Amino acid sequence: MQRSYLIKPFLDEEYPQAEYGKGIYLYDVDGKEYIDGSSGAVTASIGHGVMEIAEAMKAQGEKVSFVYRSQFTSEPAEKLAMKLKEWAPGDINWSFFVNSGSEATETALKVAIQYWQEKGRPSKTKVLSRWMSYHGITLGALSMSGHIGRRERFVPLLEDFPSVEPPYCYRCPFHQTYPECQLLCAKELDRAIRRVGSDQVAAFIAEPIIGASGAAVVPPDGYYQEIRAICDHHDILFIADEVMTGIGRCGKKFAIDYWDVIPDIIALGKGLSAGYAPLAATMISDKIMEPIFYGSKVIMSGHTYSANPQSTAAGLAVLNYMEQNKLVEGAIKKGEYLLDALRILQQNYPIIGDVRGKGLLTGVEFVSNIFNKLPFSSEVNVTKKVVTKAMEKGLLVYPAVAGMEGMAGDAVIIAPPLSIKGEEIDRLISVFEQVVKEIQDELQ
Ligand code: PLP
Repeated sequence: MQRSYLIKPFLDEEYPQAEYGKGIYLYDVDGKEYIDGSSGAVTASIGHGVMEIAEAMKAQGEKVSFVYRSQFTSEPAEKLAMKLKEWAPGDINWSFFVNSGSEATETALKVAIQYWQEKGRPSKTKVLSRWMSYHGITLGALSMSGHIGRRERFVPLLEDFPSVEPPYCYRCPFHQTYPECQLLCAKELDRAIRRVGSDQVAAFIAEPIIGASGAAVVPPDGYYQEIRAICDHHDILFIADEVMTGIGRCGKKFAIDYWDVIPDIIALGKGLSAGYAPLAATMISDKIMEPIFYGSKVIMSGHTYSANPQSTAAGLAVLNYMEQNKLVEGAIKKGEYLLDALRILQQNYPIIGDVRGKGLLTGVEFVSNIFNKLPFSSEVNVTKKVVTKAMEKGLLVYPAVAGMEGMAGDAVIIAPPLSIKGEEIDRLISVFEQVVKEIQDELQ
């Protein structure tokens, strides 16, 4: 094989070379077929090889591929911002386009700080988050993230932002049960803000459903209403990081819609262009934009490729395609079907401790003992075993972290394209069952 100079995620591992994709399937250069059970990194929401998107990008490329954001706007960027305004809840009407989810949350952080500066309260600079969280890889986004594996090398460079306990009912950090717990996990935000001083805190950021560092952890009802009330009480902005959960992934346009709560800022990425182009967005409410309009009149952030015409053409075509094919609405039923099938596996295979999720974002957590929920030791690395075996069998699942304090604990995310059909879910589950069975046999 020819020598490769491409830096891959793990330098000691081999990666197949992708040749083409169609629907929920990917094929490598040797012709092996893979079921894309995770939409890559929960990204390819409309499936692979959708010609409408390729054609929209081609048509835009034939007109103009690049304009610089402080010199020109473009038709697809304008139309996509308008479409997102229609999709987003409440007064979240404004879109600032960037290129990755990390840039979207990093921009959210800066906008929150800037908002308080424009309001004459410059001491409000800290952003609180949950330790069970991942908001991105850049230093600001990582400062807000609790994902230990991705943070630990860079801790000296990170902002010392406080974090609160997650709404993780399977392993309640307060050893309580819902609803008797009276949502202690939400109330902890109030305590944390008082400890730091609300004059220091700009915002609280949360993934409505916890993704990479929790594997589709769904908070109990009432949690976000409580969070919103606490934020309002202390004059703290609420940022919903919908990079993984937004744009229909969970069966609503935005996952936060399940709780009828309106954030101040929403970060989007992944499903926004469904993988067809690098595209993400920071969506901002009228309330936040107003003092900036009447103040400095500039969002102090941006990138050369922000609002790129070809990327926004892809995003616009993706949202149109989703509307035409009713993919968001369909994700609720398909998600229930998938979750039911996973629950049956849970009954039959004791290494599955918990199954959870909403819409087509589902998580499976593995335990060594279902009764005391003890995770496997990290040396066994069950997550890696599951992901590797699944890949061998032609199924892609996404590795996540779960368990105690986000360190020990194994879980995978199953999040196929929203375009998946019922019989394709059956096929996915049948391969996943073989994987779970073989891993369980190995571990016994
Ligand atoms: N926020 C969330 C919730 C994510 O899941 C991710 C990526 O997994 C990010 C932010 C960062 O996005 P990106 O990898 O596009 O920078």
